[in-house]
Amino acid sequence: MDNCIFCKIIKKEIPKDFNYESENLVVFPDINPSADLHLLIVPKMHIGGIGEIGEEQTKLLGEIYAIVNKLVLENKLTDDAYRVVVNGGKAQHVPHLHFHLLGGQWKKFI
Ligand code: 5GP
Ligand code: ZN
Repeated sequence: MDNCIFCKIIKKEIPKDFNYESENLVVFPDINPSADLHLLIVPKMHIGGIGEIGEEQTKLLGEIYAIVNKLVLENKLTDDAYRVVVNGGKAQHVPHLHFHLLGGQWKKFI
């Protein structure tokens, strides 16, 4: 979608190193981290937010949580604190569905 910052990152119109990439999603660090580890898990398909998730996204949601778990294990977060956050409404600033993985010490509310 035009003018969507995350679509531009996914299409590499804005250079960004990905921690992980598959056919359906990318993972990259948040530019303004709210915790020691703050990664964004972003579907490549432009889905505006929770309200645009349909039944056809069931498989994608499963893949997202499988990748979250892989990132949790890789970053040894199982014995530490971690959270997965999806913002909506006025709390959502980028209108392209994304999952925040926040690990370790919490710095600020997102
Ligand atoms: P939201 O408030 O929509 O849930 O979260 C959007 C997140 O995207 C924020 O935590 C913000 O710091 C992050 N963000 C916004 N623009 C960019 C960008 O250009 N690059 C990266 N890596 N993160 C961004
Ligand atoms: Zn987008």
